[in-house]
Amino acid sequence: MAPEADPIDGRPSTGPESWSDPLSRETVQLIAEGVTEMVGFQVAIISVVRGEALRAVAVAGSDEARKQLMGSATPMQVIHDEVARADDWGRFKFVPHDRAGGSGDDYGWVPDFVPEEGPDAWHPLDLLIAPLEDDAGAVVGLLSIDLPVSGRRPDVGQRSMLEKYAAQAERAVLVALERHALSEQIRLATTAREIVRNASVQLRIDDLLMQCGAALTQGFRAGGSWIQTFDDDVLGTGALHSAQGADIVLPDVLIKVAENAAHDLWALQQWVLIELGRPVEVLTLEQSAQIHAFMERIGTAALLFVPVGAGSTCVGNLVLTRVEGQPTWSTTEAAAALDIGHDLGRAILNARTFDREHRLVKELTALDVYKGQLIATVSHELKNPLTAIVGHLEILESAPELSDRTRRSLSAIDRGAQRLQRVIDDLLLLSKIGDPDNPVIPAPVELQPILEDLRDLTAVAAQRAKVTVTLDVPEEPVTAQGDGEEIDRALSNLLGNAVKYSRPDTTVSVSLERDGDEVVVVCRDQGIGVSEEDQQHLFTEFFRSADPAARAQSGTGLGLAIVARIVERHGGSIAVESELGVGSTFTLRLPAA
Ligand code: ADP
Repeated sequence: MAPEADPIDGRPSTGPESWSDPLSRETVQLIAEGVTEMVGFQVAIISVVRGEALRAVAVAGSDEARKQLMGSATPMQVIHDEVARADDWGRFKFVPHDRAGGSGDDYGWVPDFVPEEGPDAWHPLDLLIAPLEDDAGAVVGLLSIDLPVSGRRPDVGQRSMLEKYAAQAERAVLVALERHALSEQIRLATTAREIVRNASVQLRIDDLLMQCGAALTQGFRAGGSWIQTFDDDVLGTGALHSAQGADIVLPDVLIKVAENAAHDLWALQQWVLIELGRPVEVLTLEQSAQIHAFMERIGTAALLFVPVGAGSTCVGNLVLTRVEGQPTWSTTEAAAALDIGHDLGRAILNARTFDREHRLVKELTALDVYKGQLIATVSHELKNPLTAIVGHLEILESAPELSDRTRRSLSAIDRGAQRLQRVIDDLLLLSKIGDPDNPVIPAPVELQPILEDLRDLTAVAAQRAKVTVTLDVPEEPVTAQGDGEEIDRALSNLLGNAVKYSRPDTTVSVSLERDGDEVVVVCRDQGIGVSEEDQQHLFTEFFRSADPAARAQSGTGLGLAIVARIVERHGGSIAVESELGVGSTFTLRLPAA
């Protein structure tokens, strides 16, 4: 048989185990056993209404009876029909076998025995049942008994005992159903809360509210839900976000009422249940009437209005709706909704921060692009006149009739021009490698040849500075993944600095190795070192240490910024360890090919 719909949450139920909690199930079972033992029947069955049928959830009696009857379902209609033709014994209804309408199939089980003699003998088709009802008189379950030990219909004494057991069974079933409903509510609310919590990481407000709305509607068994966020700062949307995606248009006057109410309720940590036809305590009659008119327009019978916030700040409100006929919210549910108001509040504030950051990053990126373009343009503009200056310098320097004084001036101009040239070249490179439209086109780059070339290129400078450069590279090729020219430039800057900032009669040692999926170049010198404070700024454009020993060397302050930029766009890293007066070690890591 196909599983029936659970009357509580519409989910399929598969058997008695899915009904209520173990304690409730045990209580109901004990009551069934009480009937058999204390009143003298061989079989007692307690069933609960599940959808359109009654399902046996407790069976007392023989193992065989238990096996056959536990979980069996009887259509509600059959019971109604039987009750209609039964003798009324109070709670119990008795249908003698000659009036019984159902066949064995309807009940799942008909005991097989030969009835005794006499008018009050029990017959296999005799039916004795007590419908169990809730306060409103709706049938929620059934106690049915069969096979009196005496073989006779129950006497007055037995019937009065049975009456008591039926009352007990009714209470137990009602309590169990209530507990079941309650735990379901909590389960659903908890699920909704989980969703809100998990959704709160890095979501834009609209996405966040879209995601949570559906969970809230489901979790609170609402007809619909919407969240209003307040325009308390430029970033608040002041908008309504409905779970269904359909736009709810809240009249302006209600937007204001809702906003004020949310602030007041948040301060009190309270929610409000608004039902059609009932004035809302915290509002004026006119406001109540406006809300009711609105509810009628959107076809809603009840609203649960919950403030949303974090700390002392109220940032919005959550509204859950129910249509006519849906059960109203319990206090537990409303409290859970208020709890979710806290989660949502935090999530909304997070999302606002996220939005703000997002926008800021966008602005900064745009600014960065602009800066890059500006640098590139300015550098180009400077380059042309500089080329003219350098060209004319060369012509002048080769003139034979110059005085010594003029020559000295010309060579000073030449040094200045060269320095300018270096700054412009570095700036142009910096803007090129900072241009998002000019990504690295990665290719395998073998590092040994590059390092050997660089050592040869710095040989003259090293000799002049009385610095020995050693190179320690493995036999087998070590290959990085990236742009060869850029990697060459980064390594050249590191080695150039090491020699430039070394003291005479010291060594610069460069080593290369492969480390997992990275290649590592370490450049170590015994030079002037960098103070801890300066180390923080080494990779910033135009930074040059104030240390006179460093200032004695010419430089643009762009070399390490270029290294950092290149390393970054290759997905590598650069680190420095240094001690003033002792030396520095730069460690560069790049992805291996
Ligand atoms: P510069 O053109 O001035 O060398 P860099 O960006 O290459 O510019 O370096 C920035 C500053 O870092 C240098 O001015 C210097 O003070 C310091 N520096 C760089 N490398 C070393 C090193 N190996 N030893 C000591 N100081 C260094």
